[in-house]
Amino acid sequence: MALRNVVKMGDETLRKKCKKVEKFDENLWVLLDDMFETMHKNNGMGLAGPQVGILKQIVVMEVNGAKFEMINPEITEQSAETIDDEEGCLSVPNTNGIVARPKEITVRFQDRYGFYMVITGEDIFARCVCHEVDHLNGILFVDKMKKKS
Ligand code: ZN
Repeated sequence: MALRNVVKMGDETLRKKCKKVEKFDENLWVLLDDMFETMHKNNGMGLAGPQVGILKQIVVMEVNGAKFEMINPEITEQSAETIDDEEGCLSVPNTNGIVARPKEITVRFQDRYGFYMVITGEDIFARCVCHEVDHLNGILFVDKMKKKS
């Protein structure tokens, strides 16, 4: 495993749309392992492909001790109810702010072998998935931030 460099706001990579992953091979697995290591090293909860300079639909997260790898994630349902809470981002150092996110979401994605999975989750899980899926579309949390915190 190896640490990857985290791309910071201002770099155009963070503003581009990511392509779907089509090959579920060893290159992908190495990348996922590297992304986990990089996320841990930087005390992050989630990391998306563009944050390590890879414009592919790849997300890793660790929420309440549970690890998630999401390839080609798609939010298929979201609650109308939203919650305002604090967010930060490894690509936006020294900034935290309040963002409204759906209380509950359902996400469909593929695992590292290409198998489809569906998870419904709420609160911090929902927030984290929304934040990371935004990254895959070139959106940063500061774009949606109501105020700094
Ligand atoms: Zn982020």
